[in-house]
Amino acid sequence: MSSEPSVNPEQGPATAAAPAWQPPRVTKVGGGSSPQVEKALADVRKKIYPRSVSGLFAHWRIAMVVLTQLIFYGLPWLQWNGRQAVLLDLAARKFYIFGMVLWPQDVIYLAVLLVLSAFALFLFTAMAGRLFCGYACPQTVYTEIFMWVERRIEGDRLARIRLDEQPWTWRKLRLKAAKHTVWILIAWWTGSTFIGYFAPIRELGMGLITLSLGPWQWFWMAFYAFATWGNAGFMREAVCKYMCPYARFQSVMVDDDTYVVTYDFERGEPRGGRSRRIDHKEAGMGDCVDCSLCVQVCPTGIDIRDGLQYMCIGCGACVDACDQVMEKMDYPKGLIRYTSGRAITEGLTQPQVRKRLFRPRVLAYMAILTLISIAFVISLVTRTTLRVDVIRDRGVLGREVAGGMIENVYRLQIINTTESPLTITLGASGVPGLSILTADSSSNSLEIDAASNKLVPVVLRAPTQEVKPGLYDINLTATATSAEGDENVVVERSSFFVPK
Ligand code: SF4
Ligand code: SF4
Repeated sequence: MSSEPSVNPEQGPATAAAPAWQPPRVTKVGGGSSPQVEKALADVRKKIYPRSVSGLFAHWRIAMVVLTQLIFYGLPWLQWNGRQAVLLDLAARKFYIFGMVLWPQDVIYLAVLLVLSAFALFLFTAMAGRLFCGYACPQTVYTEIFMWVERRIEGDRLARIRLDEQPWTWRKLRLKAAKHTVWILIAWWTGSTFIGYFAPIRELGMGLITLSLGPWQWFWMAFYAFATWGNAGFMREAVCKYMCPYARFQSVMVDDDTYVVTYDFERGEPRGGRSRRIDHKEAGMGDCVDCSLCVQVCPTGIDIRDGLQYMCIGCGACVDACDQVMEKMDYPKGLIRYTSGRAITEGLTQPQVRKRLFRPRVLAYMAILTLISIAFVISLVTRTTLRVDVIRDRGVLGREVAGGMIENVYRLQIINTTESPLTITLGASGVPGLSILTADSSSNSLEIDAASNKLVPVVLRAPTQEVKPGLYDINLTATATSAEGDENVVVERSSFFVPK
């Protein structure tokens, strides 16, 4: 933040009797009388011009923008075993994630991952409110990037307000055109990168340069670029306030012990302008100089002094702004700070607040999250690299063939989830003299390529004189041998029918 508080701190103490001030409460969502609805509608239309701010939490936000974008833009370019390290190949129904190849049969991992994410969200919200929103949510991150571009081109809050109020001139046209050009380039890069998680990004890059992409690739790239441009350039806080479902249900996960951005009303009230030379405590005033900087820097345009509100994304910008004012006024920092509502109302110390963070609800979330995470990792690590599904030929249950043999026909769906080719040796047991051969090559062994699946028709035969009519339980065995000599055996159950 580059300039002084907008209210002159040298002005005299407020003389009018301060209105009785009540401790804030979490703003309720929904309901509301018509003036409230009208105000909400007016708020939607009102453009917010957040003022820039520097400080500890601004640095954290920048660090998170850099970190998340390094990962997002960089990850699709990483290579692994001669292929894209992370590729969600929807057309081939294969997800490549570093050393793993996941198939549609692995959808359970996706389900568990969603459950894990949900519990992680419950845990972090119960502990620290909308911390994810303020630092890592793509909406916040891209809004930060777009606002940074806007500030570089159009200037800080006041310059932007003046520019928007001005009639159209060449200067205004030039600035707006420059801003939108940079925004569209960032948005296009973001859209292309996103598509690069679903189609090989190197080919996409070449197709983009030579303008040889397919119509769907152009469509989805333009779609995501447009979404980025619209959300980060125009919708901004409206997404957090009116569209994000998380904002709506967070109030049921936050309680008085949640660590959130909080205004210390005990310390701050009664608020008002004053001279730095007076003893404001003697004058019966609180520490808040009512400079409104905390409101001016807020990306969602709220006043945190009204209490915790569902629109607060927990970004900490107001904390940085207020700390700078406190520093100038020579007051202790932390009038607005990350703490709990109970800490303010009951005067708890920070160690007491931290201790209360680990309340039974949080411990339960932690325990569940830990258990599911351990189970998830164990199941991923021990995941079988060879899958075999046996499908019986329903057309012909069993028949007698030349040579005095009873024959049953099956199809084996064999999936090699490793990234090396495998040699599969088939075997069958459960009926005296039972043999297995592939229908195509009359052999009991076959090759399967890396990360691929194969449908193999097989024939099982047993000598007629050794089996009586009936249905027999049998085991089909597939032994996979890698080029390094490692063996993996899969046994599948099925049945063998001997007709009368
Ligand atoms: S009130 Fe403070 S923490 Fe909440 S969104 Fe506004 S600036 Fe960020
Ligand atoms: S809380 Fe801090 S930043 Fe906000 S008006 Fe009061 S003194 Fe200014």
